[in-house]
Amino acid sequence: MKFRLSGEFGELSPVRNWQPHTGIDLAVPENSTLRAIGEGTIDRIFNGSGAIGKGLSIQLTDGTRAIYGHMNEVTARVGEHVDAGDIIGLSGNTGNSTAAHLHFGLRSPDGTFMDPTPVAEQLAAMSGETSSISKGGIFNWFLERGKVNNYQGYEQESLIREYAKEYVTEFTLGALDALKDLLLGASLVGSALCIILKVAGWRDGSRWAGVLMVANILIKYLFGGI
Ligand SMILES: [Zn+2]
Repeated sequence: MKFRLSGEFGELSPVRNWQPHTGIDLAVPENSTLRAIGEGTIDRIFNGSGAIGKGLSIQLTDGTRAIYGHMNEVTARVGEHVDAGDIIGLSGNTGNSTAAHLHFGLRSPDGTFMDPTPVAEQLAAMSGETSSISKGGIFNWFLERGKVNNYQGYEQESLIREYAKEYVTEFTLGALDALKDLLLGASLVGSALCIILKVAGWRDGSRWAGVLMVANILIKYLFGGI
């Protein structure tokens, strides 16, 4: 799902005692499913007593730590191995938080916080509704062929799905719209033609002109929603 970026990296705010924001915030509704952004080991669980609320830290295979905060429920355990996409818990509004959101941070092995904005889209795509993420299909196809690593795999899969959905919807709506225009035009022109033929001497001309006008109105009514 797409979630709005509600807090930027490095942002200064009285909410955080004017300390630079160590991660990004995504406006995620409470109890949305959260997933591991990459393969790694759970190295910390936050029990909810701190500003970050309930959450966890995953030590990714390259040593980077991915930090999730303000969660309602943490289902992962310390020491547990996770693969990219594994469920780690539910988002929430715990700790020092004024609205439901996910705090996400990336900490390099030397301890400095990095700007996670480049992975925000992927993080959003992996959170919430689970239907757009699966471990099979396109994702594995990419992985098997070594075209992408875990990170991009999820990004690619959700993007492809999104594009496909948009394309089909647009195509269907476009086709229906074109059909409507065609039918409206044809019934109007046909109706006019029947009137001309009636004047020219065709007995049934006015009857058919009437039928086509009714059809025209019906078409407008039936396709009203488009
Ligand atoms: Zn935050």
